[in-house]
Amino acid sequence: MSRPFILDPLFRNLKVLSGVGARTLKSFERLVHGEKIFDLLTHKPIDLIDRSYTPVIAEAESGKIATLTVQIVTHAPPSRRNLPYRITCKDDTGSLDLVFFRAGQDYMLKQYPIGNTVIVSGKIDLYREHPQIVHPDLMGTGGTQNIPLIEPVYPLTQGISHRVLLKTMQSALGFCPKLPEWLDAPYKKKQKWLDWKSAIEHLHAPQSQADLDPNNAIRERLAYDECLANQLTLALMRQRHKKQSGIAFQINGAYRQNMMKALPFSLTEAQVRSLKEIDADMGEKIRMMRLLQGDVGSGKTVIAALSMMNVLDSGMQAAFMAPTEILARQHYDLLKPLLESLGIRAICLTGRNKGKERNIITQQIKNGAAQIVIGTHSLFQDSIEFDNIGLAIIDEQHRFGVDQRLKLSNKGHGVDVLVMTATPIPRTLSLTAYGDLDVSILDEKPSGRQPIDTRLFSNEKIQDIITSIKGQVEKGSRVYWVCPLVEESDVLDVTAAEERFQILESTFGQKVGLIHGRMKSDEKDEIMQKFVEGSLSILVATTVIEVGINVPEATIMVIESAERFGLSQLHQLRGRVGRGSDKSYCFLLYKSPLSHTARERLSIIRQTENGFKISEKDLELRGSGDVLGTKQSGLPEFKFVDLATHGDLLATARKDAKFIIQTDEKLESPRGQALRILLYLFECDQAIQYLQGG
Ligand code: ADP
Ligand code: MG
Repeated sequence: MSRPFILDPLFRNLKVLSGVGARTLKSFERLVHGEKIFDLLTHKPIDLIDRSYTPVIAEAESGKIATLTVQIVTHAPPSRRNLPYRITCKDDTGSLDLVFFRAGQDYMLKQYPIGNTVIVSGKIDLYREHPQIVHPDLMGTGGTQNIPLIEPVYPLTQGISHRVLLKTMQSALGFCPKLPEWLDAPYKKKQKWLDWKSAIEHLHAPQSQADLDPNNAIRERLAYDECLANQLTLALMRQRHKKQSGIAFQINGAYRQNMMKALPFSLTEAQVRSLKEIDADMGEKIRMMRLLQGDVGSGKTVIAALSMMNVLDSGMQAAFMAPTEILARQHYDLLKPLLESLGIRAICLTGRNKGKERNIITQQIKNGAAQIVIGTHSLFQDSIEFDNIGLAIIDEQHRFGVDQRLKLSNKGHGVDVLVMTATPIPRTLSLTAYGDLDVSILDEKPSGRQPIDTRLFSNEKIQDIITSIKGQVEKGSRVYWVCPLVEESDVLDVTAAEERFQILESTFGQKVGLIHGRMKSDEKDEIMQKFVEGSLSILVATTVIEVGINVPEATIMVIESAERFGLSQLHQLRGRVGRGSDKSYCFLLYKSPLSHTARERLSIIRQTENGFKISEKDLELRGSGDVLGTKQSGLPEFKFVDLATHGDLLATARKDAKFIIQTDEKLESPRGQALRILLYLFECDQAIQYLQGG
């Protein structure tokens, strides 16, 4: 099955459109994030120009955009360079000048012959009390019906003018085919939605501000289509995964019971509940695909370890994948004593293991000597073979893509997958990325934790902060000092961190360490290790410490230029302290003056430590674009969907997709056939592969 012919026009290259030339093609591609006509059609108007004000000259109000019917009286070419070319026009009530800079007389006279009646549209100015229009937006002949009285306004880019974009969009609309309806008919009727082609046409012909609202029927229909394509893809993938029969593990066997006994604490209620859900999946012959979502410090790692015991009790191997070398090593170091005391053989594999050492490790994975393998993405390289892997646990999923998740689980047959994330993604967002996963939530922290005292200071107070932490450091506290994030440049990040390091070093001497993303991983590990042991008291860092790091003795977090971070990122960073029983502090430094929104955002961090609340607020205040504070979030990018407002559509689409899979899994009914077109339209490759039987 290849792409249905009916979509061909939408997939043609932009260069076939009038308005797109050899020189502007690249600009268009950049502007619409793609090369095909459909990409241009997804470029939404953000405003409109209303030209429906059609006064006579004498009544034309200055400052307004007006469309007038006038007669050309004289041409006055400039007497000197740099002066404008003037055309004087009149109607029965007065006269009006049209003003042009850099205009050639021959051209102008030919274009606008004296005596002709023309329609001009543009903003009315007064120049020495006389009305004029500088560079009319539009000039035409005949009646006002010959020019569009309302024009959409699009985001532009260098090299593409408003006028050119309008022309190109008109050309693109000409390529728009009528597509069979993939929506459920009663739902479409209830929502009063138009068919797809009409919706696209209306999208590009807004008549009022209401037509620009993301919650109007036109934009909602288009967003729903995209939600449906997304959710249907995830549902199909889930179907494929679940079809392969899984392994029914032994639940609560000897290893598991021994580990429970060995834990120095009892599980929280949320942990008990999540573990029950995991056990239920693992005990059955279905493949588990579960997301364990829990705020920083909510105790996911122990749940991961207890889940792995089911696998070991069944004589199989478990793999635990972390996003970074530091985190993999940390998980390993943390779990090793516990595992060893239970007689379990665990090994760690990261990019650092090379040569002979690596061979030994891979051998142990292959022959089953290693019961638990902890590592980075090294684990799913082709060279790594497992003896009999039964469970893949993937920590901090948002750093990995969906594909990588599948790769690891494909290292065996019917492998169960448990994804853990500390990023408290709002439900709407998590549906787009994890809609195919069942979800367990750790919404409770182990008891005995004190709230983190969070305070805001202007960057100018930096010396006071240094002075106040000096006393704490002398008493044995450990401090994270996070340096400003410089957009799009890790080189600048490093410079900022190095400068701060020097300043702190002059106060604290040998007790300060520096860690940043451009260091080699063993250098980073070494510094980190010193901080863990306490020979370093202050760790100056860029955001490399963001996820997972666990140093319970750290009680102070300083974040410079906090206003530049995403809220969820700030929350993650703050979660590095408050992990022990001592009172912890988080100092958020900001560069004044702080905008109103920035102040509002930072005060949310101050008010709550609930990651879900924070990320929901973040979504509200910033839109979905950058909720995770990182572009590598692994979340899909949408063309029509605005997650901040279309969350309910996504939930409906999820139900719809579920229903489709239940009733017409192969998409063969008439609606199913139309849905195939939808999947091709949005290039849902994974779904298409599935339908092709891949
Ligand atoms: P997460 O990975 O969710 O951020 P961790 O698993 O690292 O959280 O747990 C944070 C800390 O809390 C660890 O030191 C862990 O040993 C401890 N912990 C986990 N569960 C409990 C519990 N039920 N009671 C007390 N401490 C716990
Ligand atoms: Mg963790």
